[in-house]
Formats: sequence, C-alpha cells, structure tokens
Amino acid sequence: MDVPAGLAGSASSPAACVPSPIEEVRDERLGAVRLLLKRDDLIHPEISGNKWRKLKYNPRSGRVLTFGGAYSNHIRAVAAAGAAYGFETIGVIRGEEHLPLNPSLAYAVGRGMRLTYLDRTAYRRKHTPEVIDALRVEFGDFHLLPEGGSNAAAVRGCAEIPPELDTQLDGGYDLVCCPVGTGGTLAGIAAGLPPGREAVGFSVLKGGEFLTGEVARLQREALGRVTGGWRVECGFHFGGYARSTPELEAFASDFAVRHGLLLDRIYVAKMMYGVYALARDLAPGTVVVAVITG
Ligand SMILES: *Cc1c(COP(=O)(O)O)cnc(C)c1O
Repeated sequence: MDVPAGLAGSASSPAACVPSPIEEVRDERLGAVRLLLKRDDLIHPEISGNKWRKLKYNPRSGRVLTFGGAYSNHIRAVAAAGAAYGFETIGVIRGEEHLPLNPSLAYAVGRGMRLTYLDRTAYRRKHTPEVIDALRVEFGDFHLLPEGGSNAAAVRGCAEIPPELDTQLDGGYDLVCCPVGTGGTLAGIAAGLPPGREAVGFSVLKGGEFLTGEVARLQREALGRVTGGWRVECGFHFGGYARSTPELEAFASDFAVRHGLLLDRIYVAKMMYGVYALARDLAPGTVVVAVITG
C-alpha cells in the first residue's frame, strides 16, 4: 500500500518514523524469554503510536468528526493530524464543558479542533442516527471516526505492524503483545500475523471480556472474517480505565529506572506488567514483541 501524500511529511509536518525501531530489554526477571519493544511511540512527535497507524488509512481531507472523553489520546491525535495534514476537526466530548479546559482539550483547541459536548445519556447514543443527524445540522457534512478511532481503516493500518517485524527480525518472533482499549490495534496486529505466531492483548478496562467480540467485529468489518491466534487477557486492568494501584506504580517506576523508559500509565504499563507475568509460563527462548503503542 502506498503512503497517502499527507503522511509522507512536509515542511510543516515531519515525516513519520516507520518502520518504528525495535529495542531489546535485558532483564533477569524474564528468565530465558527474550523481550523486544516495538517503539511505535517514536513514530511521530505529536500523533504517537497506534493513533498514527489507526489514522493512516482514514480520510484526511475535508472535515473529520470524532468522539472521546476529556482526556482521550485519540482526540489529541486527531486534532494534531488535522493541523499537520490540513483537514478540519471536530471533537465531540463526553460530559459537560469545564473551563478552563484541561491540558488535553486545550491542546486539541490549540491545534484547531472545534469542541462540542454531549451529556452522558446522549453520549451513550452517540452512534445513533438522531445524534449523528443533529451533529450534521450543527457542523455540516463530515467523515465520522468512531470513538477511539477503531474502524476497518484503522485495522488495516495496524495490520502493517507484523510485516514490519517480519522484515526487521527476519520473522524471528513468537508472540506480539499490545494494550487493548477499543480493540482496533489488536484486531489489526492479529490480522497481519504470519502463520504460527500469536497475539495477546491486555485489556485496560475492567470487565474487558466484551472486547473479544469487539476485536472479532472489527476484523469482520476490515477483512470479512475473523482470524485465529489471538486472545484478550482480562486480568491486568488494575481497577479499570485510568485507574492504578501501588503495585502497578511500583512496577512502572522500577521499569523506568532499569530501562530508561517511562511507560504510559493508562495503557502501556498495564500491558508490560502482564507481559512479565505471562513470561513466567512461556517456553525458554520464546521471543515476545511488546508494542509500545504510545
Ligand atoms: C488509544 C491507545 C490504546 C488503545 O488502542 P485500541 O486500538 O483502542 O485498543 C493503546 N495504547 C495507547 C498508548 C493508546 O493511546
């Protein structure tokens, strides 16, 4: 697939760093398991990680409307992409407006995004025709990106991760791990896996069992079928979305000291904790790739 013109980089927006680099983590706690980090957090200074991949094949002209919470990484990424590639953006935010805006929303507005708000009841119905029609009346026609940016185009963007690994590692890996919020990233990674490899996603949501169905739905939308060789681990949510525990904080601080990498607390730290836990049960010599999604 060709890189859309907007993503190739321009005077006002730097070219993206793909394939993203791979680094090895040396840590005696992993025993004979090898852990490699796929540094998608280094892809782009403002549209980091999986958000860049998810936006790559979505339309990037005209007007894009999307949804998110007040601290959403997706909202930030869409606003940054709009500014970098020159399309209009509208963010529909869950809940009431609070002024002054928090740093995430202030950043989005700084990148030219227009914000509007839906109360929690209306937000739950955000993908219904009534709500969408009302938004079209208010903002005119737009390309709608679902919450978290997960759609068929996003799955295709994330499906490019395994082919990069195949090239960079000459196929020498067994398991690819990523965090799961809405499931688009895992759906894509699993879709791109060569035979014999596996993908494990770690739910950052409490009660993440429904995500298996979401990943399957997204694969069906993108590929017309559901692939095998993947699963969602639901035991590493640490209390739920944006929640944490002293144990997770201690793990992430220690990881930063040992390896010089500050893990994103909402997503990546939970996956990494899960990877270390899983590593105890893996055969010696297993090569695990953890995707640093942001
Ligand atoms: C948005 C985000 C995710 C979640 O990805 P999904 O495709 O929604 O599962 C994971 N990691 C980071 C860093 C993110 O910002």
